[in-house]
Amino acid sequence: MTKKLPLHTQIVIGLVTGLVIGLIFIFSGVPSWITIELIKPIGSIFIRALKMIAVPLVLASLIGGIANLSDVSKLSRMGTKTIGIYLLTTLCAVLIGLAAVNIVQPYKMISKETSAAIVAQYSTDVQKKQHNAEKVKEQHALDPLVNMVPENVVTAFANNKNMLQVVFFAVLFGIALLKLPEEKSAPLVSFFDGLNETVLKIIDFIMLLAPFGVFSLICSLIVEVAGDDPNHVWGVLKSLGAYSLTVIGGLLIMMLVVYPTILRLFTKRRLNYKKFFKGMERALLLAFSSSSSAATLPITIECVEHEFGVSEEVSSFVLPLGATMNMDGTSLYQGVAAVFIAHAMGIELTMMQQVSIVFTAILASIGSAAVPGAGLVMLLIILETIGVPAGGLALVLGPDRIIDMCRTVVNVTGDATVSMIIADSEGEQLKI
Ligand code: ASP
Repeated sequence: MTKKLPLHTQIVIGLVTGLVIGLIFIFSGVPSWITIELIKPIGSIFIRALKMIAVPLVLASLIGGIANLSDVSKLSRMGTKTIGIYLLTTLCAVLIGLAAVNIVQPYKMISKETSAAIVAQYSTDVQKKQHNAEKVKEQHALDPLVNMVPENVVTAFANNKNMLQVVFFAVLFGIALLKLPEEKSAPLVSFFDGLNETVLKIIDFIMLLAPFGVFSLICSLIVEVAGDDPNHVWGVLKSLGAYSLTVIGGLLIMMLVVYPTILRLFTKRRLNYKKFFKGMERALLLAFSSSSSAATLPITIECVEHEFGVSEEVSSFVLPLGATMNMDGTSLYQGVAAVFIAHAMGIELTMMQQVSIVFTAILASIGSAAVPGAGLVMLLIILETIGVPAGGLALVLGPDRIIDMCRTVVNVTGDATVSMIIADSEGEQLKI
């Protein structure tokens, strides 16, 4: 009898095979349309299915979670703690990014001529991003708060982009159920409990596609990055190697030092790395191959609940909030990129300008959507705040997709860590 490989092993195999096949296609001259037309759709189906289930999952688990709470004060306590710790981890991330870029000084490894050539080569791409950034900038300071309240619940559910609106409605609905006499609320509470179980079953079905989805995402990604020129892949990796390594080094410090330390400080638990990464494996692989914390959300919720014993009540509240407003990897990268671009363009940053990077990166982390490339658009706003020409964005465009994959892994890890801290502070018994 053959033994079935565990899902996470299948996903790793999908990832490696996608990489190998992609490289074989590029170097043996297989036309890129074959990959784009025939392989990419599998990955798109997988990501669409995950996004499809995100709203029902948040709605059912959050409403059910709150309606089963013993009292409302627990919710506001959890909210304050969650937002406080999210801000703290984001602050650590930007500071690490700034420290890393100031110590390593990757901008010294790129000549003035090379940076001018890159800026010229990517000028049209930068203009497109600028257009997106303009739209973000037209917002007022309190708009994120205003936008949390949906004008229309159906539109909020239909529009995947604003998960905070769904969270807002679900919290309100859950509290209302909690306040009703039991005989009135009981049918709805058991409806949402049943809905939740059904949604979880659907996620199991979707995950059967995960190895193929991950294969397709990675394979089509590298074929697209290579374009018509196979050497482009190496060119991209080499030309900005020092910058990319600085970001990746900072991200590793976040994962291996900062999160375990924060966990230890707040929970008195020593992180068992092996257990943690094994438990999170599926979510992290998916974050890496999809570059989207929003698409990964259903799996992040499943991992922390099943592997670490975080209750549904905590995970369904802390994780959707984190996927939307806590992006530690993104803020760290923005700190490194902003200083790198400024120096490479011959601009010395003052201490004040570096401090304003800290503030804008924290706000950008709250404002960024949890989708591929969102951090790059917000980076433009940071550049503008510190007076660096937007054209400099071109300097980091090349390796950005690869860095996006890595920073999304950190974004997801950060959310999962905070969910464990909150669960522990609520007296839950964790399996870590
Ligand atoms: N892709 C990131 C995420 O979804 C956001 C970004 O940094 O672009 O978490």
